[in-house]
Amino acid sequence: MRSISIFGATGSIGESTFDLIRRQGGAERFRTVALTGGRNVARLAEMARELRAEIAVTAHEECLPVLRDALAGSDVAVAAGSKAIAEAADRPADWVMSAIVGAAGLLPGLTALRHGGTLALANKESLVAAGPLLMQTARDAGATIVPVDSEHSAVFQALLGEDPACVERIIITASGGPFRDWSEERIAAATLNEAVAHPNWSMGQRISIDSASMFNKALELIETREFFDIDPARIEVLVHPQSIVHALVGFCDGGIMAHLGPPDMRHAIGFALHWPGRGSVPVERLNLAKIANLSFQAPDEQRFPALRLARGVMEARGLFGAAFNAAKEIALDHFIAGTIAFPRMAVIVEETLTRMAGRNALARPASSLDDVMEADAEARRRAAEVAKEG
Ligand code: NAD
Ligand code: MG
Repeated sequence: MRSISIFGATGSIGESTFDLIRRQGGAERFRTVALTGGRNVARLAEMARELRAEIAVTAHEECLPVLRDALAGSDVAVAAGSKAIAEAADRPADWVMSAIVGAAGLLPGLTALRHGGTLALANKESLVAAGPLLMQTARDAGATIVPVDSEHSAVFQALLGEDPACVERIIITASGGPFRDWSEERIAAATLNEAVAHPNWSMGQRISIDSASMFNKALELIETREFFDIDPARIEVLVHPQSIVHALVGFCDGGIMAHLGPPDMRHAIGFALHWPGRGSVPVERLNLAKIANLSFQAPDEQRFPALRLARGVMEARGLFGAAFNAAKEIALDHFIAGTIAFPRMAVIVEETLTRMAGRNALARPASSLDDVMEADAEARRRAAEVAKEG
């Protein structure tokens, strides 16, 4: 029986993963090791009971009594806190979904990788912050990382059976988010509700806002650079409002392989679940005649400076990715809290990187967890300072 764990089980990706596991027979077909979540412990307990998990872990200590009550009478063990989440990742499983949001997903993913097996990686932040560390850990342990971000799953699929030496470029698409056609002035006054209203994808709150600012695509550029180990100059972003083509790979003979699919994350999650084979996944089948038009346009780095900042991070590497992601997380917290305007997010990230680069604090490679965590913590402090300066 295949063993699985889901980190971030109660989130958008976690729920879709649970849905696929259940459709494939749930506890009859899979041995569930660990499920983790946040404050929604009622849902976490429900999932843990259904899949007969060994352990359910909430990120929040104060939620432990409620989780314990909800699982009373079952065989599911309970725990709480980020240390407990990392310990749960130390319980070996054949297939692990990394779907915690933010840098908090790094340690559990890294810990799981050390046991080998397959890491289905939705948590793009871990590649952005610590790409070299993650990839080296996977190589050392003989583990496989299968990307779950839709664009990266698409590239991964387009590259199957291809010679990496013949890859000329990788193009990841972007829907452009809710502000795709907005003027700079209108974006400057964007509200939280407007920012979370993604036109095509249903996702967690944070990634939805990152899509509106294109910080999500910025993270994905860096993710592409780290995962596929390709020269940043060969990575492009293409705005594609329909979100049907997820990525394209251009080869040395001028041919391009494009990956198409409905905007439903269960495709990429299902691909990772069935890897190295393919299996049936219950997503809508595309009717291209009905869709009729697929359109493409160049991204606008003036209105969406996150893309320009990502280019700098890809060039500089070192600990820039860790600082970029951490500063972005703080800026996003401030926007969600209503203390800054939408365009301030990019200003805070840029200013944080400038200040840290000036002190030469980001030059070391992202190959030790301590260095990554230190850069992450300092970027959070500095970003908070910049945010306060107004
Ligand atoms: P979400 O907010 O819906 O869910 C996040 C999950 O992580 C929840 O279970 C939450 O309880 C848990 N969590 C949050 N903070 C935590 C912390 N500090 N410690 C431990 N657990 C914590 O997010 P999501 O949309 O499912 O995204 C998850 C990850 O997948 C992100 O890295 C995101 O960038 C990536 N991703 C998501 C989508 C999507 O369609 N939702 C697509 C591509 C990539
Ligand atoms: Mg994506």
